[in-house]
Amino acid sequence: IDIEVVAETGSTNADLLARAAGLARPVLRVAEHQTAGRGRAGRSWLSAPGSALTFSLAWHFSGPLRELAGLPLAVGVALADALGALGVPVQLKWPNDVLRDGAKLAGVLIETQAAPGGGVWAVIGAGLNLLMPDEMEQRIGRSVAAAPWLAQMDRNALMAQVLGVLATNLGQFAHGGFAPFCARWNRLHAYHGLPVVIIDRGATLHEGVAAGVDDGARLLLDTAGGRIAIVAGDVSLRVR
Ligand code: ATP
Repeated sequence: IDIEVVAETGSTNADLLARAAGLARPVLRVAEHQTAGRGRAGRSWLSAPGSALTFSLAWHFSGPLRELAGLPLAVGVALADALGALGVPVQLKWPNDVLRDGAKLAGVLIETQAAPGGGVWAVIGAGLNLLMPDEMEQRIGRSVAAAPWLAQMDRNALMAQVLGVLATNLGQFAHGGFAPFCARWNRLHAYHGLPVVIIDRGATLHEGVAAGVDDGARLLLDTAGGRIAIVAGDVSLRVR
């Protein structure tokens, strides 16, 4: 894995996506500060200098794109493993968030590009809040979490720990897909048995009781009309 550390950039995901077609090896790109961090569907991910660990990892998968549907959830499991081992227990929110005490501690954004020699380059971005200055929380406008204990750790050591766990899990995902992660994800599910709504740009699509995910990484929702399985696209989940 090639490792790059930059003081500042717009978005590590954008940087690696722009180069994905020419990559020969996996690349980890870490930014001390991101000025235009991205979330899903054009949303933004905010951080202040020194407040977060922000990085992207470009990883090649030989299968077709559709096999990557469960990747954001598998990455969530890997982050939860890494954080748990560092003394920060977390839970997962479908499809792509890591929560601490019910508030968002980290987000995952995966963007893909066909690889010229076959398969897909997945650019796996993550932002992990270490400190949360008040003015940033106000700008985000919702309850957010931080991990001040990790902010005291050497940043390289923290990144190395996370990268080690992530790489192991990506290898497992490449061989077995999401299935080997399913039970682990369900043990970490933040909203198991709770009433939730699934929304798309503000509009409610479904409501029901969250019953975990299946081995295709779909959210199982017990609705008035029976159990349905929701594909992780651009939809978001809210607790009712
Ligand atoms: P949601 O979290 O609203 O269900 P989502 O998981 O789709 O939606 P993402 O697109 O992954 O959200 O992340 C972007 C959203 O995360 C922003 O719209 C904002 O609400 C929130 N956000 C932005 N910066 C941070 C941060 N540093 N910590 C926690 N949350 C943040």
